Amino acid sequence: MTCDEPTDLKVAIIGAGFGGLGAAIQLRQRGVENFAVFDKAGGVGGTWWVNRYPGCACDVPSRLYSFSFAPNPDWTRRYAPRAEIQAYLEALVRQYRLNDRIRLRTEITRAAWDEQQRRWHLCDASGRQWRAHVLVAALGGLSRPAWPDIPGLGDFAGEVVHSQQWQEDLKLSERRVAVVGTGASAVQLIPHVARQAKRLDVYQRTPNWIIPRPDRAIGPRWRALYRRLPWLQKLARFGIWAVSETRVPAFLLSNRLAAGHRLLAHWHRRRQIDAPDLAEQMRPDYDIGCKRVLLANDYYPVFNQEHVELVTGGIDRIEPDAVVDADGRRRATDVLVLATGFKATDPVPEGLIIGRNGQDLAATWQAGPQAYKGTTVSGFPNLFMLLGPNTALGHNSVVMMIESQIRYLLEAMDHMDRRGVETLEVRAGAQQQWNAMLARRHRHSVWNTGGCRSWYLHPESGRNTTIWPGYTLGFRWRLRRFDPERYLVTGSA
Ligand code: NAP
Repeated sequence: MTCDEPTDLKVAIIGAGFGGLGAAIQLRQRGVENFAVFDKAGGVGGTWWVNRYPGCACDVPSRLYSFSFAPNPDWTRRYAPRAEIQAYLEALVRQYRLNDRIRLRTEITRAAWDEQQRRWHLCDASGRQWRAHVLVAALGGLSRPAWPDIPGLGDFAGEVVHSQQWQEDLKLSERRVAVVGTGASAVQLIPHVARQAKRLDVYQRTPNWIIPRPDRAIGPRWRALYRRLPWLQKLARFGIWAVSETRVPAFLLSNRLAAGHRLLAHWHRRRQIDAPDLAEQMRPDYDIGCKRVLLANDYYPVFNQEHVELVTGGIDRIEPDAVVDADGRRRATDVLVLATGFKATDPVPEGLIIGRNGQDLAATWQAGPQAYKGTTVSGFPNLFMLLGPNTALGHNSVVMMIESQIRYLLEAMDHMDRRGVETLEVRAGAQQQWNAMLARRHRHSVWNTGGCRSWYLHPESGRNTTIWPGYTLGFRWRLRRFDPERYLVTGSA
């Protein structure tokens, strides 16, 4: 691919989701104007633009799953649906006049560090080029769909759709649908599929812990109150955040501390599923929290219906018109829905980010992603990742993590401006120490010892490369100021 003459930028941001937009807003608020946000999608929103399966919503209360600097008094539900979250982000783009900075349908195919110029060189699929002093990779930890490796999948003659690539015109009525997977996406879409399909087979490999979803509509009076009394909204947000933080010890110290949630989940399952043997098949046999705890009120009741079947023995193969289970039973299928998750432990495509000496970030991360403070990576100068390695959470809102990282980015940029610094590259030793600390904290964590297989652990190394083992407050504290002593610096005055 040849490229044209590059456009110069101070900051190039890849990704127009929560991370990329948050960074763009805060850059603008600090007076930085020479930046651009790139996204391959046709709209802003990141995961909330892309995931369009029916029932898609956030399982973190929206009061907390939004920016602290841009509270929204108009949420219509405690847990906002996808479209409302996307509308929130679109409103921010208007409010902060970001439109002229966002390049949609622009897929950055390569961002390479040019040692001589001390700049990142970005190239898109059509050959356009940019040169940036700082690169912000806000790619999202869960943006690359994982397709299962099931024999015969490629020969299926009906329609196949991954939950992340849902087609809004997909016809389900009068059709026999199979859903593979029973994770967070599946429990949201299955009730909707069940309402439309003639027959629904759900292939469960591992049952999940599911607790009730304390959702409710927020009426016009409450919305008006939140609008009139901003402190009330702050108080509500603080309350949700503080209660969420209290869950950390159950994840890190002892699962016995989660006894209340375990009992609640068992009660919920037995109450909602009519047949005891079916309820038993959906009983998880690992520690609660080892996989993401799901919130759903309408999932279990689906299985009380005649036209829905839970298949637990595994899939042997897929034939052009059927799914064959491990017992050899063939179930005729017209539509195959793969709710099989994401390549969370392999989040960056090969050839996308190339650092010093031509190192490919994806290759550097073959034994699992690692970074310093989830944000900077040794060998990749002036690169800042948002929601990089070990920044996902099992207990709270990742928007809190994004805000901590943006603050760190801005502090680093201030340092560069003040000191005339050209490049910042985290020292390999600092990165090693950070990851040793993570490993120590994960040694007894439920994600590492809870007896389940999850996307949190790297499949080969077994290392937890995704979850922040601590409080969001602890992360904020560690990223509260930029720490230049941990960096190799060039060009300082
Ligand atoms: P996921 O949690 O990774 O679930 C994937 C499901 O597919 C699991 O049930 C898995 O079984 C199954 N599966 C994968 N490969 C399979 C195979 N070859 N054969 C049979 N079954 C297979 O993915 P997800 O549901 O898309 O959710 C991923 C994450 O996205 C969540 O944990 C959450 O962080 C986020 N998410 C959030 C929301 C929200 O409300 N905020 C909604 C959706 C997603 P095993 O369990 O046995 O591996």
